[in-house]
Amino acid sequence: MELPEADCVLVRHGEIGHKSEQVRRAMEERLATNLEAILTDRGIDGTVERQRTRLFVHTDEPGEATAAATDAFGVVSASPVIQVEPALDRICESLADVAGVCFDGGSFAIDARRAGPESAHEFSSKDIESNGGAAVWQTLEDAGFDPVVDLDDPDATFYVECRPDRAYVFTETRPGPGGLPVGTQEPVVVLLSGGIDSPVAAWKMLRRGCPVVPVYVDLGTYGGPDHQARAVATAEDLVTYAPNFEFDLRIASGGEMVERLAETVEETRMLSLRRFMLAVGEQTASSVDAVGIVTGEAIGQKSSQTSANLRVTDIAVDYPVFRPNLTEDKAEITNLARDIGTFEESTIPTGCNRVAPSLPETKATLEAVRAQEPDDLFEQAREVADRAEVVEI
Ligand code: ATP
Ligand code: MG
Repeated sequence: MELPEADCVLVRHGEIGHKSEQVRRAMEERLATNLEAILTDRGIDGTVERQRTRLFVHTDEPGEATAAATDAFGVVSASPVIQVEPALDRICESLADVAGVCFDGGSFAIDARRAGPESAHEFSSKDIESNGGAAVWQTLEDAGFDPVVDLDDPDATFYVECRPDRAYVFTETRPGPGGLPVGTQEPVVVLLSGGIDSPVAAWKMLRRGCPVVPVYVDLGTYGGPDHQARAVATAEDLVTYAPNFEFDLRIASGGEMVERLAETVEETRMLSLRRFMLAVGEQTASSVDAVGIVTGEAIGQKSSQTSANLRVTDIAVDYPVFRPNLTEDKAEITNLARDIGTFEESTIPTGCNRVAPSLPETKATLEAVRAQEPDDLFEQAREVADRAEVVEI
C-alpha cells in the first residue's frame, strides 16, 4: 500500500537505545550524519531531524528516502509517514483519509502506540485504536466496502505512532540492516578479492560500525585485469552504503610471490599465500591505524579454510583476524551478496589461473608450513604493502 501525501520518513534504530546516555547521543548523531550522506549521495532532498530514539527525514521523496534509510547501518526499520497534530480527532481524520485511498478490500486493523509521558496526551493508544477503527470503518462503508475488523490477521493495517509534539500515520514498515552506524567503531582492513565472500564480509563489518580499508592482492599472471576490476567494482558497490567514508582500494603486487609459491610449495601453498595476504593486511592496518584484518573465509569452505588450517594462517599475524562469514554456508553468503548488490560484480568471469595445488593439505601444522615457506615471505609482504597502489573509489 503506497501512502499518498507522505512528507516524512520515520526511522527507527535498535541497539543504540540500550547504550548509556552519552554513547547513545554520539551514536544517534553519527547515524544522522551517515543518513544525510546517503541521501546526498543519491540526490535525494531531505533534512534529518533527531529525536530521542527516532530520526525523521523531512522530504518530498519519501519512497526514495525510505529506501536510502533502510540501507544505513544502525537503522532497524523505516516508514514513509504522514505527520499530523497529536490530537485524537486529527489522527482519526488522517486514518480515515489514508484508508479511503489505500484500502482495497478485506479486513483491517489499527495498530497504535503512544510515546512520551502519560501527561503528553489526553488519550491512550487504545483510544486511538478504537476511535480510529470506527472512523476508518465508516469511511470504508461509505466507499461501498463491507469492512471487517480483524486484529489477528488483517489484510491491511493502519499504524499510528503518537509522540508528544506530533503523530505519525503510516501503512508499512520496511526493514533496515540493523547493526551500528559506520564510524562508531575503529576501522579494519578487509582483504577484498572481489569474489562472493569478501565483499559480504566487508558489508558485515560496516554493519557493525567499522569503517573498512579494502586491500586487494594482485596475483600477477594468476589474476589479471578482470580479476582486479572485480575487486574495484565490489568496492564501488560497498561505498554506496557509507559514502561519507573513504573507501580507496589498496592494490598490493603479489604476483611475484604467487609465482614463487607455485614453483616451490606444494601441499601448503595456499596456506602460505593466505599468510602472505594476512601480513600485507597487517602492514596496511598498522599504517592506517586499523585494528584488525577481515577475510571472507568460512570454516571448511575451501581446504585453506578448514578449522585446523585457519589456526596456521592466523598465527602469521599479531592483529586479530575477523571472519564474519565464519559459520555461514556458501548459500547464505551468496543470498546476502545478492541482497546487498555485490553478487553480479563478484561473478564476472575473470579467466584467472588456478593457484591451488591438486592435493592441498587440510590439516597443516605450523612446522610443515614453515618448512616449505620462503624465508622472506613476511618481509616481502610488508614491502608490497608499503608500495601498494591506491585506487580512488
Ligand atoms: P572470496 O572468498 O572473497 O569470495 P575467493 O573465493 O576468490 O574470494 P578464497 O580463496 O575463498 O577467495 O580466499 C579466502 C579469503 O582470502 C577471501 O575471502 C579474501 O578475504 C582473501 N583473498 C583471497 N584472494 C584475495 C586477493 N587476491 N586479494 C585480497 N584478498 C584475497
Ligand atoms: Mg571464498
